[in-house]
Amino acid sequence: MMRISDQLKAGGRPTLSFEFFPPKDDVGFWDLYKTIEALKPIAPTYVSVTYGAGGATRRKTIDLVERIKNDLGIEPMAHLTCVGADRSEIAHVLDELKSHHIENVLALRGDPPLGQKSFVATEGGFRYASELVAFIRERRDNFCIAAACYPEGHPEAPSREADLENLKRKVDAGVDFLITQLFFDNADFLSFRERAERAGIRVPIVAGIMPILSVKQIKKFTEMCGAKIPKALLQKVEAVETDAEAVRHLGMYHATQQCLDLLREGVSGIHFYTLNRSTATSAICQMIKASM
Ligand SMILES: Cc1cc2nc3c(=O)[nH]c(=O)nc-3n(C[C@H](O)[C@H](O)[C@H](O)COP(=O)(O)OP(=O)(O)OC[C@H]3O[C@@H](n4cnc5c(N)ncnc54)[C@H](O)[C@@H]3O)c2cc1C
Repeated sequence: MMRISDQLKAGGRPTLSFEFFPPKDDVGFWDLYKTIEALKPIAPTYVSVTYGAGGATRRKTIDLVERIKNDLGIEPMAHLTCVGADRSEIAHVLDELKSHHIENVLALRGDPPLGQKSFVATEGGFRYASELVAFIRERRDNFCIAAACYPEGHPEAPSREADLENLKRKVDAGVDFLITQLFFDNADFLSFRERAERAGIRVPIVAGIMPILSVKQIKKFTEMCGAKIPKALLQKVEAVETDAEAVRHLGMYHATQQCLDLLREGVSGIHFYTLNRSTATSAICQMIKASM
C-alpha cells in the first residue's frame, strides 16, 4: 500500500502520474487497460481515474482503480466529486475504496452536470471541495487526500486572491498535495506557486500538463477550464491545423520543454492529462526521464 504523499514527503524524485477517464463500454475498458499496462516500463508513481459528471461513472471509476491496483500493480488514485451525492453515498464510496485497499483520493467539488449553469449542492451533500476534504479526513484519517488548484484562477472565482483564500481553507481541511489545472505557460505556474507559498500553503504542488494533440480539442478544453494558450503557441499550431502530425509534434515539443523547465524549477511532480491516449505522453516521458 502506498500513500502518494509519503513519496512526495520523502522529497526524492518528482512524481510522475497519468490521468485517465473510465471508458463507456467493455471494449473501451480493455483498450484502456492495455494502454495503462503499456505504461509499466515508465514506472509511473501513480495513475488517476476521473469521476464522471453527476457521478455517472462511480462504479466504473471504482472498478478501474481496483484493477489498476490489484491486477496491474500500479498505485491508483480515485477522483471523487460532490456532484449528485449526499454524505451517506460518499461515505459508501469511501468504504468501498478502503475495502479494495485504495487509499489515495483526489477530492473535488466537480463541475455542474451538462445543461446546468452553476453548481448546486445535493441535499445532505457538500458545497465545496473543502467540505469533502474535511469529511474524508474525519472518516479516513490515513487516506492520502489530493485536491485541485488553478494557476490562472478558477473560472468561477471573483478574483485570484479570493480563489487562493479558498484554496488555503481547502488545504487546511486536510489536503496532502495539490494538482494544478492544465496550463501552457510555466510563468503562470511559478507565480502561482510563489503566491501559494506566501499565503501559507505548504503542501507539494504537482503540475498538470496536457500536450496539444488537436487544435479543435485543445480550444474546447481551455474554454471549459479557463486556461489560456499563449498567443505564439496558438499561432504556431493554427498555422499547421490541417496537418494532424505537425500539430502533434508541436504539442509534444511544447509539453516536453514545459516539463524540462518545471523540473529545473524543482517541481514536486508532473501529472499528465492523457485523454486515454498514452503514446504522446510516453514519448515525452522518455525525453524527460534523464532530467528527473
Ligand atoms: C487535477 C484535476 C482533476 C479533476 N478531475 C475531475 C473529475 O474527475 N471529475 C469532475 O467532475 N471534475 C474534475 N475536475 C474539475 C473540477 O471538478 C472543476 O474544476 C470544479 O469546477 C471545481 O472543483 P474544485 O474541487 O477545485 O472545487 P472547489 O475547491 O470547491 O472550488 C470551486 C469554486 O468555489 C470557490 N470556493 C471554494 N470554497 C469557497 C468558500 N468557502 N466560499 C466561497 N467560494 C468558495 C473556489 O474559489 C472556486 O471558484 C478536475 C480538475 C482538476 C484540476
